[in-house]
Amino acid sequence: MAKKKVDIGKIEKAVTDILLAIGEDINREGLKLTPKRVAGMYAELLAGESEDPTQYIKSVFNEKCDEIILLRDIPFYSVCEHHMMPFIGKAHVAYLPQDCVLGVSKLARVVDCFARRLQIQERLTSQIADFLIEHINPQGVAVVIEASHSCMTIRGIKKPGSTMVTSALRGIFKKDPRSRAEVLSLMHNA
Ligand code: ZN
Repeated sequence: MAKKKVDIGKIEKAVTDILLAIGEDINREGLKLTPKRVAGMYAELLAGESEDPTQYIKSVFNEKCDEIILLRDIPFYSVCEHHMMPFIGKAHVAYLPQDCVLGVSKLARVVDCFARRLQIQERLTSQIADFLIEHINPQGVAVVIEASHSCMTIRGIKKPGSTMVTSALRGIFKKDPRSRAEVLSLMHNA
């Protein structure tokens, strides 16, 4: 599923064109390395495009566990595909295992892998949930993401401080209201 890495040279050329298009002198001292820096930045912000998240679920532990496992407040940085501007926030990822548990840092790795792509928050949320459902076979998964979108805080409608919240509930957290209430309360008031 891994796609090829970004073409740094092409981004540099495109950034040079943007600088020219806004009337800049591309030989000005401060701008000389800007295309290179911006290209490096996109390679970093979009590194998840060429990364295969299944590498993070190779070390699962066969462990009987019938309680919710939650990793809360996972900071992440993503890029909105509509404006190519960052959206930044926190993800809360919980699952109720069936027959195996995952090393806890791996949940954060999976979040990063899907976040470092051109995304919309709704898809990021459901991709994390669907990936875990598919690969660790839990009884349920709940993912809640809160994020601030720079494309609406500093441009357009300009509402700094607003956050968007999205959730994806799968398995028992979707079907059973008590399990859902339990996981959501853990996410919000532990
Ligand atoms: Zn946007």
